[in-house]
Amino acid sequence: MTEVQQNLAKIREQLPTNVQLVAVSKFHPAEMIQQCYDQGQRIFGESHEQELRIKFPALPKDIEWHFIGHLQTNKVKYIAPYISLIHAVDSFKLMKEINKQAARNNRIIRILLELHIAEETTKFGLSLADCRTLFEESEWRDLKNIQICGLMCMASNTDDMERVRKDFETARIFFEEIKAKYFPNDETFCERSWGMTHDFQIAAKEGSTMVRVGTAIFGERQY
Ligand SMILES: *Cc1c(COP(=O)(O)O)cnc(C)c1O
Repeated sequence: MTEVQQNLAKIREQLPTNVQLVAVSKFHPAEMIQQCYDQGQRIFGESHEQELRIKFPALPKDIEWHFIGHLQTNKVKYIAPYISLIHAVDSFKLMKEINKQAARNNRIIRILLELHIAEETTKFGLSLADCRTLFEESEWRDLKNIQICGLMCMASNTDDMERVRKDFETARIFFEEIKAKYFPNDETFCERSWGMTHDFQIAAKEGSTMVRVGTAIFGERQY
């Protein structure tokens, strides 16, 4: 086994069976993705449309590509034909554009809404208040070509693991609120995408169903 394959096996051993692994391959070459693929890994996460444009045609067609980064509306059309899940949707405007491009491709695109819970990590994501408003306004119900499958978040960028746990707990409790109000009988609203290299074990304990792990599998990224 290669080093990447050994790393992948180690991460898998630590994950409960109900938590899916998104192997975050951004800035890493197609050969490393292929190595993981050869070990059965099928879900890969990327954050840049330009990079996906090169990797998508070069790699096996049964890979499920997840877009995990901040997505600009003008880039949606490029990934709409094949993207399997878009994690970081943080505005109604972006939802409308994904819906439009999904319709053009005769698809229903699965999305997650990104919550802004961490203090400082990112300027992206919906505050809990904005997310509540988005659901209350109910225009999202008219978007027939997207399916809201759950929520995504990043924890605060800190070594204070109790703080990290609290962030995930906040997200988990908020997920339950939205689930109960808007998706009580809808099994497709079930995903909680949280946890990265440094905090995926904590995330798994705080209800994550999908961890997005890059560095622990592929090593440090060369930007
Ligand atoms: C890059 C990235 C990851 C992976 O981070 P690691 O610390 O390398 O595991 C996870 N989620 C998002 C949104 C990212 O941009």
